[in-house]
Amino acid sequence: MPELVEIETLRRQLSSLILGSQITGVYSPSKAKLRSLSSYPTLIRELRQNRVQKIDRTGKYLIFRLSTEKVLISHLGMSGRWLVLGETKPKHSHLVVEFQGFSLVYVDPRRFGQLLVARSENEVANGALGPDFLSRFSVNDLYARLIRHRQFVKKVLMDQSVIAGLGNIYADEVLFQAGISPLAHCDKLPLEKVSQIDSCGKKLLKKAISFGGTTLADGGYVDLYGRNGRFQNHLMVHAREGEPCLVCGETVQKGKISARSYYFCSNCQKENF
Ligand SMILES: [Zn+2]
Repeated sequence: MPELVEIETLRRQLSSLILGSQITGVYSPSKAKLRSLSSYPTLIRELRQNRVQKIDRTGKYLIFRLSTEKVLISHLGMSGRWLVLGETKPKHSHLVVEFQGFSLVYVDPRRFGQLLVARSENEVANGALGPDFLSRFSVNDLYARLIRHRQFVKKVLMDQSVIAGLGNIYADEVLFQAGISPLAHCDKLPLEKVSQIDSCGKKLLKKAISFGGTTLADGGYVDLYGRNGRFQNHLMVHAREGEPCLVCGETVQKGKISARSYYFCSNCQKENF
């Protein structure tokens, strides 16, 4: 599933391609509907002849600001992709947006993605989204948000209502950088460790953005031009079960919390503080 890093990569690519260009046509080649969207006739009516003036991102959501002052909210779900349309339309294409000289296509085989025209971005996640991980917030605020949860820190970091943007891959990597086991209890974290989640996490996410995000062996994520990310070559623990830790040489371990995998180094990452 694409996370903050991959969505930010897409946001930058989309911004440099479409800002200010007029949408000349919109249509849906799909009979299958996404699980969460404005109806296709509404999407087509709201987008046609419109321009995208700015594209913002909060957490894993893209917010296309339209010249009508409405917004198109896009969440890629498990398998959504925005692609520059080539010669042939990919399978599971749900929406084609045409500009002068090129078209974009939204593709989503599993259909968990979301496309919604709304009056404002306050409608993102029904207003229940925590601050974006890369936005400015105080460490005290993050500390207060985390310690009220008596759960494993890995699980809480992926809770978008606590802090927005991290999924399975980067939650593992942030915790490695901060020296915290995924099984540490959130309510037992000292302020100093929360500060490391904030500072190491931001540094890590910015680096991953500069590498164009992560494409794992399942080929899940590709960018606007269908290219893989390059940060998978820099992951420290995620998807490295059985391999040596790149810092200490201890074997990287894998476990599961509520059916989601986690990866960590038991030597570099502590459970109790
Ligand atoms: Zn280690």
